[in-house]
Amino acid sequence: MSIKNNLNLIQEDIEELLKKLGREKDPFTLIAVSKTVDCDRIQEAVEWGITDIGENKVQELVRKKEEMGDIVKYHMIGALQSNKVKDVMDKAFLIHSLDRNSLLKEIEKRGRQREQVVDCLIEINLGEEESKAGIYLEELETFIEKIENCNYIRIKGIMTIAPFYEDPEDVRPIFRKMKEIFDDLKNRSLHNFDMEYLSMGMSHDFKIAIEEGSNMVRIGTSIFGERDYSKI
Ligand SMILES: *Cc1c(COP(=O)(O)O)cnc(C)c1O
Repeated sequence: MSIKNNLNLIQEDIEELLKKLGREKDPFTLIAVSKTVDCDRIQEAVEWGITDIGENKVQELVRKKEEMGDIVKYHMIGALQSNKVKDVMDKAFLIHSLDRNSLLKEIEKRGRQREQVVDCLIEINLGEEESKAGIYLEELETFIEKIENCNYIRIKGIMTIAPFYEDPEDVRPIFRKMKEIFDDLKNRSLHNFDMEYLSMGMSHDFKIAIEEGSNMVRIGTSIFGERDYSKI
């Protein structure tokens, strides 16, 4: 299947679902996850309506932005090492993976140096899998206090990578919990928080994520096909 066909199907699915949920007027972002995908194919996706892409490696994001410029917005969705913050902070539209104090400190420090407020999502780990990134719920309140004391961080929402289940229905409670957290943070009008994005849902579970309130999905495989890691 071509990128065009894949995108048509996904965009139709999303539109239909949002309509069913009465949310067709609400803002919604489809991020095409383009890790390992070369610029030619990304440009093809852009021709068919993609406005946002997601990368999980700083180097790859920077390289692609140098090549393609501002034809899309670039989202940093992968684990972020503190020493790479300076390379990505002015290139990413949004950093989805703010998940620990050391990273918060580094972003605040670099933001101060450049007088740039950096837009981030807090990545939350509700699956409690050791291997997955994200802050645990028990740590969230302490983390929020630290964020409120910053000057160069703006929290635009929350993000999660749900555990993989054969049956995506099994992940629904996690998405539902994320929406509760999102609404709670939004209602509290916290300093440095401007809650806008609930980033959850990937190729195999995006419909369930949207049903549970996601307004930003990150889809790779269903758009570009299986990733070929040998090419990078
Ligand atoms: C790769 C990746 C995705 C996309 O996954 P697919 O299953 O290919 O849709 C979404 N989010 C993150 C953080 C990723 O690393």
